[in-house]
Amino acid sequence: MTDPPNSKSAIITGITGQDGSYLTEMLIEKGYTVHGIIRRSSITARPRLDHLTLDPEVYGTRLFLHYADLDDATSIRRIIFKIHPDEVYHLAGQSHVGASFEIPESTCEFTAMGTLRLLELLRDMDPAPKFLNVGSSEIFGHPDDAPQDEDTKMNPVNPYGVAKAFAVQTTRIYRDSFGLFCCNAIAYNHESPRRSKSFVTRKITNAVARIAAGKQDHVSLGNLEVERDWGFAGDYVKAMWLAMQHEEPKDYIVATGTLTPLKRFLEIAFAHAGIDDWQPHVKIDPRYFRPAEPTRLVGNAQRAKDLLGWGPSVNLQQLVTMMVDADKSQSKRRDD
Ligand code: GDP
Repeated sequence: MTDPPNSKSAIITGITGQDGSYLTEMLIEKGYTVHGIIRRSSITARPRLDHLTLDPEVYGTRLFLHYADLDDATSIRRIIFKIHPDEVYHLAGQSHVGASFEIPESTCEFTAMGTLRLLELLRDMDPAPKFLNVGSSEIFGHPDDAPQDEDTKMNPVNPYGVAKAFAVQTTRIYRDSFGLFCCNAIAYNHESPRRSKSFVTRKITNAVARIAAGKQDHVSLGNLEVERDWGFAGDYVKAMWLAMQHEEPKDYIVATGTLTPLKRFLEIAFAHAGIDDWQPHVKIDPRYFRPAEPTRLVGNAQRAKDLLGWGPSVNLQQLVTMMVDADKSQSKRRDD
């Protein structure tokens, strides 16, 4: 059920991504007018938003898209000042850790400097919109403690983590020094059927669906000895919204608190497709190894639970089966 329009408006950077699409759906359901900032690029397909942009009751009335790049302060400024939203959700940035080793400069330009530019701009607004930056567990890299909480020292081990650490800390500085309503959602890995196939979870579930259908024989992966705290993206955008509704701006760890080996993810995904032994279907390809891996990234979301009443609603088994099922039906439809 969608609420009637209310007077609230939000800007979302990174609206075409996995989180952007879930957050947009949620805000529209809550009666918001949503403005998405999108990058000019030669790729115009926005499959994660199609169900909204093709709906005439939504697109152009409750949802608007605007072109601007995070490295172009004048165009961002023009849009944000014109809309003067109540809330800004900053989700954009180069989001792939592996790629950040190949393109460290642009990763920092978008993720670190892009955040600073937005904050600088909000400082000049009266009243300043509330601001939420999506941080990452990668800021902790090799943490002193596990699980991590909002006070754990940052110790990133890759360019992506460094850029996110800059963004998280800068957000804190603008809150503490300028009194802006700025929050960080320090989000651990969050997945869904909308996750890009360059991330290991979706790469696996997509391959499993195709292997089960006899369309391919194996999947090539990198380091299988890794572990992650994986949650469902639809749950994580709820935490982002709740953080913005709390009376005080704060940082929140958004995580499930469960550390899962990648091999366990493989096991569940293949088993759900009726394949008991995944090993013959996985080949190791050194191309997918990274120069460094983080360790023991598992979050303690107690503050989000206590202050926001937030908790994950989807466990790992449900997440993996949701993704495999979605890939199976997509693979059937597209016959690719
Ligand atoms: P990240 O946690 O944001 O880096 O998310 P990814 O899904 O990209 O990677 C999660 C972990 O899976 C990392 O430790 C990777 O090294 C590992 N991994 C193993 N094989 C692959 C692969 O083929 N692709 C990706 N993306 N990651 C892989």
